[in-house]
Parts: sequence; structure tokens; C-alpha cells
Amino acid sequence: VKFVYDFTEGNKDLKDLLGGKGANLAEMTNLGLPVPPGFTITTEACKVYLDSGEEPAALRDEVSAHLDALEQRMGKKLGQADDPLLVSVRSGAKFSMPGMMDTVLNIGLSDKSVQGLAKQAGDERFAWDSYRRLIQMFGKTVLGVDGELFEDALEAAKAAKKVTVDTELEAADLKKLVTKFKKIVKTEAGRDFPQDPREQMDLAIHAVFDSWNTDRAKLYRRQERIPHDLGTAVNVCSMVFGNLGPDSGTGVAFTRDPASGHQGVYGDYLQNAQGEDVVAGIRNTVPLAELERIDKKSYDQLMQIMETLENHYKDLCDIEFTIERGVLWMLQTRVGKRTAGAAFRIATQLVDQGLIDEAEALTRVNGAQLAQLMFPRFDESAKVATVGRGIAASPGAAVGKAVFDSYTAVKWSRSGEKVILIRRETNPDDLDGMIAAEGILTSRGGKTSHAAVVARGMGKTCVCGAEELEVDTKRRRMTVPGGHVVEEGDVVSIDGSTGKVYLGEVPVVPSPVVEYFEGRMHAGAEDADELVEAVHRIMAFADRKRRLRVRANADNAEDALRARRFGAQGIGLCRTEHMFLGDRRELVERLILADTQAEREESLKELLPLQKQDFVQLFESMDGLPVTVRLLDPPLHEFLPDITELSVRVALAESRQEPHENELRLLQAVHRLHEQNPMLGLRGVRLGLVIPGLFTMQVRAIAEAAAERKAAKGDPRAEIMIPLVGTVQELEIVREEADQVIAEVEAASGTQLKLSIGTMIELPRAALTAGQIAEAAEFFSFGTNDLTQTVWGFSRDDVEASFFTAYLEKGIFGVSPFETIDKDGVGSLVKLAAKAGRETRPDLKLGVCGEHGGDPESVHFFHEVGLDYVSCSPFRIPVARLEAGRAAV
Ligand code: PEP
Ligand code: MG
Repeated sequence: VKFVYDFTEGNKDLKDLLGGKGANLAEMTNLGLPVPPGFTITTEACKVYLDSGEEPAALRDEVSAHLDALEQRMGKKLGQADDPLLVSVRSGAKFSMPGMMDTVLNIGLSDKSVQGLAKQAGDERFAWDSYRRLIQMFGKTVLGVDGELFEDALEAAKAAKKVTVDTELEAADLKKLVTKFKKIVKTEAGRDFPQDPREQMDLAIHAVFDSWNTDRAKLYRRQERIPHDLGTAVNVCSMVFGNLGPDSGTGVAFTRDPASGHQGVYGDYLQNAQGEDVVAGIRNTVPLAELERIDKKSYDQLMQIMETLENHYKDLCDIEFTIERGVLWMLQTRVGKRTAGAAFRIATQLVDQGLIDEAEALTRVNGAQLAQLMFPRFDESAKVATVGRGIAASPGAAVGKAVFDSYTAVKWSRSGEKVILIRRETNPDDLDGMIAAEGILTSRGGKTSHAAVVARGMGKTCVCGAEELEVDTKRRRMTVPGGHVVEEGDVVSIDGSTGKVYLGEVPVVPSPVVEYFEGRMHAGAEDADELVEAVHRIMAFADRKRRLRVRANADNAEDALRARRFGAQGIGLCRTEHMFLGDRRELVERLILADTQAEREESLKELLPLQKQDFVQLFESMDGLPVTVRLLDPPLHEFLPDITELSVRVALAESRQEPHENELRLLQAVHRLHEQNPMLGLRGVRLGLVIPGLFTMQVRAIAEAAAERKAAKGDPRAEIMIPLVGTVQELEIVREEADQVIAEVEAASGTQLKLSIGTMIELPRAALTAGQIAEAAEFFSFGTNDLTQTVWGFSRDDVEASFFTAYLEKGIFGVSPFETIDKDGVGSLVKLAAKAGRETRPDLKLGVCGEHGGDPESVHFFHEVGLDYVSCSPFRIPVARLEAGRAAV
């Protein structure tokens, strides 16, 4: 195998092997763009190193050969005393992990070559500044020295000189600083800073490999669901310098605005600086448009290149570039991250430009982004004073208590508080605080600062660079213009779409996207915004493309109507137990406690018209569309009073010698029905078999409601669903009774009702015997909530609170199996049951109605295994429609 690729050898499709950065550097090189020459060490080499603790045997020679070639091309040797070739060593994984892994610049500088560099550049200050940066970065990332020590020494040097910015330090100061830095390395790392350039390079390469497994990188991957076994590539690139004076500089650019999607000139530029200064948000940048004034030639060239890149990648690209004494160099490009709103707008813009087609447009957006756009926003008309304004870095409306460090953010959020993490700027160590917070507010840094990039990636609200806010993290407070002090725990609101910061809680209003789905705002209307327009079009693309139908889980007419507006094609699950709550609970209580047949029949007779009326309304609201009604499912004791409360009542009555026969009878019943494991107890079909008349009453209510709707010229399409079936015999018994009731209602009403009867598959035994069960079922609906519970043996009501956090932290799964379907376990059973069911009954209708029906990743899985529909809560219907469309691309 080959472990090293020259930039001229790769291309953008080799991300697995060369990482994102390496693959795109190669692509740009081959497009003829000005990329400093270099080479990429593959992720394969990294994997060998991480698995065995040693680099692959062939690597050293391959690196030597590529280094030789690079040296020949550049006409100088790495670290050459009179004119050194310098290189950067940068990480670059397949997926971008901003700020997560290591980079070392200026490799090749030593006590000798720093003099050569000074002579060649004609700039002593620059050479010594580069050298101190090397020792600092190398010390921190390669030798593991605490970075603060270098920062403190730098601050001390500035203080001694009474200056505030780094650039005011002169060559002599920096020379002293280098001596100081070398001392720090010696004491802290127990070794001298290596003077041999090749040793520097090799150690840096290993450090980059190792950085794949730092805690913060692991945490980031778990969050972003990036697999842990990909490894990182390492890019060795000849250095160009943005810190050679005012005609040099470094910047980042986007081919479109990553917040709005608009075309234009977006980015930040920093004169006389190296790349890390921009990303770290340490000094304040100027808008990219200013570059036209500073260096018109480079600016024009950059605009040209941006156009080339966008046409080539057919997408928004982000770019890092450096200008060295008036010469432009491209250091990186990639398809850029963007806000949810921008993703929808850019996708439709690119379709209009003829760069991509509808199917491709669907791959440019996702359900998580759509869900984000459906969040409420701040009410602009609310009378709450803004106290500051920063950069709208990542949209959303976040309200929470101010906290000034990650530790507190995590601690408070664990105890249920909503917090806003406020920092001067963030760095990778703040990651868990950022995850815990509702939103992030910083007083420094631009759109490309760490806080902005990471928050956008997480879909978290962020306002950054709010400069008039004075953040004092040591004293845990922030002073706003006018002098008011915000203390830890005070409530603040931040708007990531406008950049506004408010004191106190701002009320929220529905998002325009929800207004659109609700039919209160129309695409094409004058007041519809661009975003609604884009969402409307993308939804149409998805609806044209998808094979999966989308139904709603709804148990009342109101939810059903909303679901219809959101695009539901029927109801996949009506949980009838929800119709037995409230004042009807007493009727159910009487039914459960009935001692005689007569008593039981009495309460069933009272329940029947109520149930029927529910169904009439439901069928009317879903007229013409299927409505799956599930017969009663939960354990009976859920309808009875609380056992402790009742015991107290009985004891009190006893001690007061008051009459309490009814309470006592109730208490005995509650005891009798009490179960240790109610989820595995008397529920679902078991109830129907144990309580005579219960299921037939429900079936009669459904049938009579359907007959009534027919008589009213409606088009009811009811489906009767039996829950928690484990064996076909259970289903056969219930079915026989149901068929009889339906026949009676049909005879009495003189109509054909065409009611189909099916079952839920939510027990492993049902899935394993699906072939037999299909003999008695016209449809299957996978109840993946219970199926997950029973396949894993996890109590769905308890695990989230007890041990899931530990499981997630240990990476046993990246996301709860109750949220995203466990494809290998639960998913195999779904697949197997679907296949066996259809073998018995080729026209068996298949759906899913567990929570997974609205989860993006799970929707793709259900598409792949050939289900006919997914059913989810009304609010998730647009997401399910979009993902079903994406799955079909
Ligand atoms: C299921 O188990 O997945 C299901 C939809 O039923 P319920 O959540 O009501 O148990
Ligand atoms: Mg269930």
C-alpha cells in the first residue's frame, strides 16, 4: 500500500483516504489554483499507528521520498541553515472537526535556521516571531506543555514593554521570548526543544495521529455521530506567510453567506497575521470586502477563484487563504457549513442556476435542519430592551440563566436549568459546556470564530463578537453598556438570527415555516419570506420523490386536522386509552371493578356512545384517508387510583370509624391488579382476552361510527389494530369476535364497511412468528417503542434517567435506541418480520408507529426495508416527508 500522496496525486473523492482537507487541497492543485506544494499522509497510516502504537514500516521512507521531491521543487531543504524550507503539519479527518485536532506551523525553524529566515525575508522580527510560534505550538500540541504558560509569558513580555498587541513586540523582545519558551519546554517536558527539523516533523506527525483520540475529539465525534475508527490524515504543506508585513495577511471567505445563503462577498481578513489568529478570534478582523482596498490584485484573483470553486463543487464553499507579500495562496477549501435556513435557500438557488437538479437539492438539506426552522422565534414587538448586539452566528431564540464557564453550564443543565454560556471567546475545551447550553454568547471573534463554527455545526443558537459587552469570566459577570451588571444566574435572551442580546426573558412567536405548514402563510404570497418559498419548493421535491407514505399519531380531531395540514396521509396510530381519561375514567374504573356480568355490561353500554362519538369526529377529520384505531393497550391499574393515596384514605376512615366499604373494595382491587412489571403484564391483547366485552365494545363503536359517516356521505377508512400480540392464536380469537360484531353492524346499517383488521408487531415473538401472524392480519404496524424495550430488555420509562447517560458517555451507543432505530438488533427483526409477513400475504400493508417514525435516520431505514408508511406525531410530519424524499434519492 501507498501511505503518502503528493497534492498532485489526489482528488476530492478520496476523503476516506486523504481526509477532507487533503482531498480538497489535491482537487484545488489539479484545478490549477495556487496551492503551496505538499503531500498527505493517509488515514490508513494513522490507523496502523493508532492500532499498533508504531507507524507502518514503509512510512518513513515514503515520507523521505516525498520530502526530497518537495525540497527539489522548492529549491531548499527543510530547516536549511541559510534559507530554510518550512512546512506546516496539519490534521485533516474525513469529516471536519473544527479546532478539535492539532496543527503545527513553521516546522524547520531552529536556532540556526531562524537566522537564515531572517536574512532571506529581510525581516528579523518576522523570523523570531515565527520561531516563538513554532516553540509555542510544538510545546503545547506535541510535547503536551500547558499552553497557558506560553500565553502568560507572552502577556508578561507585552506588559514589560507596556504594549497591548503582539505586533508591537520587536525582534529583540521576541528573541528573549524564544529563550523563555525554550526554558518552559525544558522544565515542563523534560527535554530540549528539538533542533533537528526532521525530528520536529516526525514528532508533529505522531502528535496529529494521537490527537484523533483526545477526549475532546472523542466527545465531538459522539455528538456529531462520526465513527471513531476513521483516523485522521496528515497534511505536510510548504509554509506561506501572512505575517510578513502589511502587504501580507490571512483570511477566510465564503462563496455565499452561510447565514442567509445570499450571494456576495462574505468573510474576514486580518492583515499581517497567520491563520490561527483568525480562527481563534484573538484579534479583530476586517470584513473581506475591505481587501479590495488593501490589495486589489489579490482581491480580484480571490473572487475569480471563488467563482471557479463554486461552479466546480456546485455548492457553497468556504476557503482559507493567505497573502504573502502580495501573492495569493489557497490553504484550504471545503463545502461549507451553513445555517438551516441557508441550506434550504442555497439548494433552491442552485437549482435555479441550473447547477443541480431536484434530487440533488434534496441531498443538500435534512430533517434536522427543517426541525430547527420550525422552532419558535422571539417576538419582535415585545418590549424588552436590547443591551447589545453581536454577530448573528447561528440562528435560534435562546433564553436561559447566564453562566460564565463550561463546568457550571454542565452542572446547572444537569439539574434541569436552561443556561446561556457566556465567554469572551470559546475554545475546544468549552465543548461540553456548549453542548449543555441553550445558546452561546461571546464578546469576541467573528463568524468564523470557534464559537460560531461549532455552534452552527451543532445547530445551537450563537451570538458572537458582541464587543460592547464586557465579559469577566473570573468574577462571573458581564457588564453591559450603561453599566448594568449581569451576574451568574440572571436570565438573558439571545437571538442568533439577528445577533441581539436582551436582559430577561423575551416571549417567543411561531416560526414562519410553521405558519406556512399551518396554512397561515402561503408560498407565492406577497408577504411570504424567501425561506418559506424555499421550504415550499423543497417539500414539493420530496413529495414527488418519496415512496413512503406519512401518517400521524393522533387521537383527536384537533391533532388530526393539524396533521392533515402538515401533510399527513392518514392516521397510523390512534391510542384509544387517551380517550378514556378525564371524566370517563370513573366509567372505566367501574368496568374494571365490576363483579357481575350485568355490572360490566352496564358500564360498557355507557362507554359505547362516548367512544363512537370520538370516532365519528376522527373519521370526519380524516375523511378519505386511513385511520388506524388501536384497541386499548395500557395496564389496567393506570385507570385506578394511586395505591398509597388510597391506603391512606382507608386507614384514615378506619381510625375515624367512618364508613369506607367502597374505598376498601377499591383498594383490594388495586392490590389485585398491581403488577411488578406492568409493561410486561396485563395490557394490550391480553386485556381484550381477560375482560369480556371490552374489545367488542370498541370494535362496535368503530363500526357504528363508520356506518354513521357513510350514511352522512362521508368516506371513512377505519383500520382496527390489536396491540401487543405475541402469537397468532391471540389474534385469531379477537378477530373472530370482531368479525362478528362488524357483520352485525353491517347488517343493521345495510352498508359494507370494509374494515380491515391488523396487528402491531412489538414483541420479539411476534416478529419471529410474523409468517403465522400474517395469516390473521391484513396489516402490520411496527411498535418500535415496545419492540426496542423488549429486544434490549430496557424499560422505556426508566432507562433515560438511570444508566443511559453512562452508556452514551462510554460510547456504547451514540444515540438512544429509543430515538434512532437500532438497525442491527431491533431493525433486523423489523426486516425479518416484514419479509415473512409478505411471504404469507403478499399484499400485507406495513407501517411503523413507534417514535422512530419521525426520526430522520430511522425513516431512511424504513424506506430501505420496504415499509409502506411511517407514522409520527403531527409536528414531525414535515420532517418525515422530507426524509422519506431524501431516502428515495
Ligand atoms: C410502540 O410500542 O411503539 C407503540 C407505538 O405503542 P405505545 O408507544 O403506545 O406502546
Ligand atoms: Mg406499544
